[in-house]
Amino acid sequence: MKTPLCDLNMDELTALVIKYGQPKYRAKQISHHIAAYDCFDEYTDLPKSFIAQLSEEYADRPLKEITRITASDGAVRYLFQTEGGDLIESVYLPHDYGNSVCVSCQVGCGMGCVFCASGKHGLLRNLSAGEILAQVLYIARDNKDKGGVNKIVMMGSGEPLANYDNTIKFLRLVNCSDGLNIGMRSISVSTCGLPDKIVRLADDGISCTLSLSLHAATDDKRKTIMNIAHKYSVKQLIDALKSYFDKTGRRVILEYILIDGFNDTKSDVAELRDLLKGLCCHVNLIPLNPTDNCNLKPPAKKRAYAFCEMLKDAGISASVRRSMGSDVAGACGQLKNRTAEEMAKSSKNK
Ligand code: SAH
Repeated sequence: MKTPLCDLNMDELTALVIKYGQPKYRAKQISHHIAAYDCFDEYTDLPKSFIAQLSEEYADRPLKEITRITASDGAVRYLFQTEGGDLIESVYLPHDYGNSVCVSCQVGCGMGCVFCASGKHGLLRNLSAGEILAQVLYIARDNKDKGGVNKIVMMGSGEPLANYDNTIKFLRLVNCSDGLNIGMRSISVSTCGLPDKIVRLADDGISCTLSLSLHAATDDKRKTIMNIAHKYSVKQLIDALKSYFDKTGRRVILEYILIDGFNDTKSDVAELRDLLKGLCCHVNLIPLNPTDNCNLKPPAKKRAYAFCEMLKDAGISASVRRSMGSDVAGACGQLKNRTAEEMAKSSKNK
């Protein structure tokens, strides 16, 4: 299997061109083609013989689009296939104030949150930095006329901090001035909560927006919906977030899925107030997107907004997030699961 060319950073590209006896400036030329998601035929400023050598070892475009669905609100859900045949999902979210891409970082997910479709079949493998980047590059090229991509959210399938090295390599590649040059302030990384990795992220000089999928204010409650809560306590997580804020100066985001009657009551507000004391944060309330792997339900809209008001009254910055693209295939993982099931069915019928 060929290595995605976009896996390589500037130092690696420089070493590569030197290996092939080419002048150093070719590394920059290649990086510009990578950023444009060009195919090798479009590398017209490089010698044909060199491109022929490169293409034996490297893939110019490591992702192939399998299908897409466009939602009524303009969100586009893409299903891609990797060089090795795995299916991954990404979402394009166009806004007046800038266009975002939501990327996947693993094939499947090993975290096993009960409400999440991505983890239904467990973790298959980590994506490489280039495979994560290629989702952004493909979508930026595909939506050039709409202004490309300005923001990135790592909220697709997979746990970014469980694929730590590839995640930070991806963040550096997409942030690089010879690449898409997307600022750290325009990148959000969402985690189910690995405290040691949260601290390491700040130590490694990454200052993106960090979102913690909290979803419940107490360990006992969190354990009933998230496996990771058996390993780390909410106290450990909040301490890690405080340390992230101290080192980066970036306010952190707490994601809180609203599940009807489970975590949307007055006592949840009081527990959140106590837990979040002294943490510079904003709470994003996300009405649960129902999936077919659990029978949890979101609260009525009115109840969601009332919960938000209760949080604000308790002195917590909070808002209810409008979930884009929910009419196309729900939360991440569902389009992949559905397509994979259909592909399996049609190959059985052949
Ligand atoms: N593993 C990371 C990132 C992927 S999930 C994490 O856990 O944060 C991105 C976000 O979508 C998380 O907050 C996750 O809890 C949320 N999510 C997953 N399934 C959902 C669903 N059915 N409805 C609403 N949000 C969901």
